[in-house]
Amino acid sequence: ATPTAVTVGVGRAAEFGILIKNGDTLENAGQIDVAAFDKTGTITEGKPEVDDVITYGIDESELITLAASVEQNSNHPIAKAIVRKAEGLDLLNTTDFENVTGKGIKAEIDGKTILAGNKALMESNSIEIPQNVLEKYDELESQSKTIILLAVDVDMRGILSLSDKVKPNSKRTIEELHKMGIETYMLTGDNESTAMSVAEAVGIDKVEAGILPENKLDIVKGIQSNGSKKVLFTGDGINDAPALTQADIGVAMGNGTDIAMESGDVVVMEGDLENVVAAVQFSKKVMRRIK
Ligand code: ADP
Ligand code: MG
Repeated sequence: ATPTAVTVGVGRAAEFGILIKNGDTLENAGQIDVAAFDKTGTITEGKPEVDDVITYGIDESELITLAASVEQNSNHPIAKAIVRKAEGLDLLNTTDFENVTGKGIKAEIDGKTILAGNKALMESNSIEIPQNVLEKYDELESQSKTIILLAVDVDMRGILSLSDKVKPNSKRTIEELHKMGIETYMLTGDNESTAMSVAEAVGIDKVEAGILPENKLDIVKGIQSNGSKKVLFTGDGINDAPALTQADIGVAMGNGTDIAMESGDVVVMEGDLENVVAAVQFSKKVMRRIK
């Protein structure tokens, strides 16, 4: 590869807000077979809003206060939405805060254990989910919402449902990738039905939902070894760092965490998904010039 063409390519890409860390990356990007994406903050805006608040033997404002008090310790988009929902309420002090990756939050308030997260979080803490709560959970899940359960000690006290809008150019990005013969995947910790409806809305080929962050890495590895495919992975969160590192090309959304940005070979500023397409096109152009 002529160093000049690569340097020019890297420089041109930077003008479009695409930071390419080294020339090899640019050369690889044009040979991608599969583009895999995280959902929240990558395909979707990552700014969910709380829709429904359902309580069990507790006031609505108390439920929101407890949820926001534990979530104020987290940077997750879900946490930020819950804290926004509590605007005007006095939040409580928490101790023993624990971020359970891919599941939710655990913390103590006034000697009580508060859990806020998904079914898996409740299961791993041996919290029983009553039948009526499960029914409500399934009903909301079928509306493609992200559902957060809140438990106080061993009692299930409420459900918060959230929804997140798809980014305006996600669909176009997926279409462009398909035109280049690239297969698309979505890898997400969110529930299956929410994941499926987002994938359908943007035309993504394959979905892996309800997965833990380390599984994102395994799935990327699996795609790579199955037919020796080259995989580009795009993500924005701390969770995504292992998959970003494992992928042949890791593309970090510039609105994400510092860890994601450090792990990516390519950083797309302002989270513009269409720049993923631009990076692949730049690469193809540079490679043509080299050949
Ligand atoms: P994604 O792959 O969509 O970015 P994450 O792995 O970050 O998802 O989160 C997966 C799931 O874990 C969320 O859908 C949610 O159910 C739960 N979760 C993660 N962080 C939190 C949090 N701060 N509060 C409550 N639930 C959370
Ligand atoms: Mg994410």
